[in-house]
Order: sequence, then structure tokens, then C-alpha cells
Amino acid sequence: MRVNENILISSLTTMRLGGPARYVLEVETPRDVADAFGFAAQYRLPTFILGYGANTIGHDEGFSGVIIINRMRGISETDTGIKVMGGEYWDNVVAYACDRGLTGIEALSKIPGLAGAAPVQNIGAYGQQISDVLESIDVYDSSTQTFKTLTQSDLNFSYRQSILNTTERNRYFVISLNLNLKPGQMLRPFYNSIERYISDHNCTDFSPNGVRTIVSAIRADKLPDPLVKPSAGSFFKNIYLSNKDAEIAEDKGYPVHRGNDGNKINSGWLIEQAGFKGKLLHGFRVNDKACLVLINESARSYNDLVKARSEITGKVYDKFGYWLDQEPVELQ
Ligand SMILES: Cc1cc2nc3c(=O)[nH]c(=O)nc-3n(C[C@H](O)[C@H](O)[C@H](O)COP(=O)(O)OP(=O)(O)OC[C@H]3O[C@@H](n4cnc5c(N)ncnc54)[C@H](O)[C@@H]3O)c2cc1C
Repeated sequence: MRVNENILISSLTTMRLGGPARYVLEVETPRDVADAFGFAAQYRLPTFILGYGANTIGHDEGFSGVIIINRMRGISETDTGIKVMGGEYWDNVVAYACDRGLTGIEALSKIPGLAGAAPVQNIGAYGQQISDVLESIDVYDSSTQTFKTLTQSDLNFSYRQSILNTTERNRYFVISLNLNLKPGQMLRPFYNSIERYISDHNCTDFSPNGVRTIVSAIRADKLPDPLVKPSAGSFFKNIYLSNKDAEIAEDKGYPVHRGNDGNKINSGWLIEQAGFKGKLLHGFRVNDKACLVLINESARSYNDLVKARSEITGKVYDKFGYWLDQEPVELQ
């Protein structure tokens, strides 16, 4: 286990905000995980589990507890798919599966982060989500100090949600994941933006690596690279509506996407219609290609984010009557 002290959270998160963390423990074995939680308990310090920091926002005052990061890496084939250690970079996992012709996560290409965080908010993109293929996760349960396996149904997945970021937040440390992936390819029709790209570029390869190439190109055009332009990806969640509310929204002329996962209004559309596209708010640029993304151009304080967020949510609420929920987690 590597023990670090007084590390700036801004250096551990892609939004690049946040003061010092008292301890940052990087765990390299399952034994280390138990020791790390034991260390925090011994000194009565709070814990926060961190991955790559692509969905986490730091606060100016920092964190006077123990941040624990999974540094266990490795991917191997199993009878039903692949087993992945939680410290593996997620996109390496997708590349590994695609190179073996395994389908199920190719549309999740280029999502920044570590594999251990993927089930936490049930990462999803372009019609796939990890809950569709997640068989089980191996965890350390910090409340009972035991190692366990949680199956797909234990995790109670929904849109950007699982027990790991709701009822059992910060309780389970994800050590590894078992993904159920099969040889094959995604079935058409694909997600709208993939279909559009295919017809614009005359694509014919829909193998896992073919779709990976398409998704990577779409994302590169639309989403800022967090290493170049600090962001936490989509800062707001999309709006999901009941059938009745979807009809009301359609009567008002709002674009409602009716898909397998429910009736959705893209919050980026709401933000654009509210006049924020490309605007700079308190150091945060509303990305002009995907308005859900706030890029930290010059903000140094969490308060700047609070001000930018409330301007956007307030105006969207006044105009449309929808309240935008924040997607990234706050490190506190
Ligand atoms: C440019 C950009 C694009 C993005 N695009 C998408 C997208 O298309 N779809 C999507 O779903 N997300 C997207 N995201 C969000 C982000 O990439 C995902 O949420 C990713 O899974 C975060 O991984 P991380 O390792 O950075 O997690 P972190 O931000 O470090 O942590 C996120 C949460 O997971 C918990 N956690 C982390 N590791 C573990 C572990 N080992 N055990 C238990 N809990 C853990 C943390 O406590 C925290 O609650 C995007 C982000 C960026 C910056």
C-alpha cells in the first residue's frame, strides 16, 4: 500500500477543483483494502473511495480523512466473459474485449475512469450500460470488514444509479468485476447518433472494434478530453419522464426520446434552449457541442461552480419547470 499525505484533490480529479486530502492510500492487494479501512477506523477518520476522479468534485477545504484508491490491475478471460481488476483503466477493458471480438461494452468506449467505478453510477453511453453485462462484483464490505461477492440483482441498477451511490454509498470497495460478454456484435438499429455517423461516413464494420472506432470518433468530436480541458463529463443528468409527463412535454414541443430505457429529454437541449450554449459562467464554459458538459477554464474555487450551477438550474427550471440533478459526486 502506498501512503500519501496532504495531496491536492484538484490533482486527483478531472474537474481540477479541491483542496488537500489528509491521507491518500493507494491499495495494491485485497489485504491492503482491509488495512486501509482499518487505518481510517483506528484514527476515527472518514473515508472516501476514489478512482480516476472523472465523476468527482473536490471542495476548497479539502478532505480531512482518508481517500482510498484501487491500484489493482489486470484483465483475464473467463468461461462467461472477462474478469477485471477495479484499478484497471476502463477504456483498456473495452479495448481488451473488442480485440477478442466480445460484444457488450463496445459503445462504452472512451469513458474516462477506472473499472471499479463503472458499476457505481452504472456507466452508460450510446445504448449500452454496464448493468446489461455485469454478472457480479467482488467487494470489501467496510461495515462488516468482510470480502463478499454482490450479483447484478444485489446492485439494484437504474439510470446512473446503483446501491453503490445511493443506499450503500461508500460502504463497498469494488475490488474486481465479472462481465458477461459473448462473441458477436451489436444489433441494429443503433443509437441515433451512431446511425447518423454510419450514414455520413458509409461505415460497414459493426464488429466490436468497428463500433468502438465509430463511438471513439463521435466522442472525440463532441466531448472535451479531460486531460486537456478539465471537466467531469456530463455535469447534469438527463430528465426521465413517465408516459403521462412525456405526452405533456411533447404537446409543448419538447423533444422526447422514447427508448428501451424510458422517456428522456436531453438536458443538454434544455440548457441550450435556456441560452447557455458556449457561455462562460464563473470560470466554467458550457461546452458548445454538448451543453451538459461544464469545462473548468479558469475557476479555482468550488464556490464558482456553485454559482454557475445555480444560474443554469434556476433558468432551466424557470423556463421549462424541470429541475436538473447533478451527476458528479461531491468529495466531502
Ligand atoms: C469527458 C468525460 C466524459 C464522460 N462520459 C461519460 C459517459 O459517456 N457515460 C457515463 O456514464 N459517464 C461518463 N463520464 C463520467 C465518468 O467517466 C464515469 O462516471 C466513470 O465511471 C468515473 O470513473 P472514475 O474512476 O473517474 O470515478 P471517480 O470519479 O473516481 O468516482 C466516482 C464514484 O465512484 C466511487 N468509486 C470509485 N472507485 C470505486 C471503487 N473501487 N469501489 C467503490 N466505489 C468506487 C466513488 O466513491 C464515487 O462515488 C464522463 C466523464 C468525463 C470527464
